[in-house]
Amino acid sequence: MTLPSVIDTHAHLSAEEFDHDLPEVLKRAEKAGVRRIIAVGETLQDARKLLDLSRKFPLILPAAGLYPTYLDVAHARRIHDFILSHRESLAAIGEVGLDYWKVKEEEDREIQREIFRHFIRLSNQFGLPLNVHSRSAGHQAIALLLREKARKVQLHAFDGRVSAALVGVEAGYFFSIPPSVVRSRQKQKLAKRLPLSALLVETDSPVLGPDPGKRNEPANVQDAVSTLAELKGISIGKMAEILMENTFRLYGAILNDKDPGSYSLTEG
Ligand SMILES: [Zn+2]
Repeated sequence: MTLPSVIDTHAHLSAEEFDHDLPEVLKRAEKAGVRRIIAVGETLQDARKLLDLSRKFPLILPAAGLYPTYLDVAHARRIHDFILSHRESLAAIGEVGLDYWKVKEEEDREIQREIFRHFIRLSNQFGLPLNVHSRSAGHQAIALLLREKARKVQLHAFDGRVSAALVGVEAGYFFSIPPSVVRSRQKQKLAKRLPLSALLVETDSPVLGPDPGKRNEPANVQDAVSTLAELKGISIGKMAEILMENTFRLYGAILNDKDPGSYSLTEG
């Protein structure tokens, strides 16, 4: 059986866990039907590394962002400059957002919000999608996105309430489901309640895999697709088709630009 085409919309390929065997990891992904991987960055160093990798491996679409636990405005500014100089090559701004799990002090959270607000405005300015982290801050992240009138938004590994997610759905935001959905009741419940038109898949490699004790990798994105198909009561093929359409709705421009013609929605 050939696996359906799918795009992994959030993975950390610059992580050191992949330093020794990235080409093999990408080969396995390709074999598993993965057509593109949106590779998010946590620092400026990541952004540079991902841009280099994307020139070597066409499977990789690089993103640049500052992980929300870095409370460093000067670093955010350097990433801002990087985004300005490389925006034609970038698929997204990410990983950015809020993390109230690790950051507990109100004054630190205010720095987080300031940096996030800044990236939201940059996204609006250039139409670059935001790839958003919102750990223990789902409702707050969506509220800030709405206040700043963010238009192109992916909320990754959303751990907030379904009711908060549905407010994001109203605004046209997308929610990416990782392979840990095979074992996470919270992710299953969220996926069940979200409309098909708001779903994407991701891996968050090297974490959030089907097996918590093992390194996750993009090929495992198919576990998320098949579990979603089961939860939604539709075929895997149909599920994959819908996910591909949704991914194009959010990321279309760069998916087409990078490789004109090869990923049309009507492909068999
Ligand atoms: Zn991540």
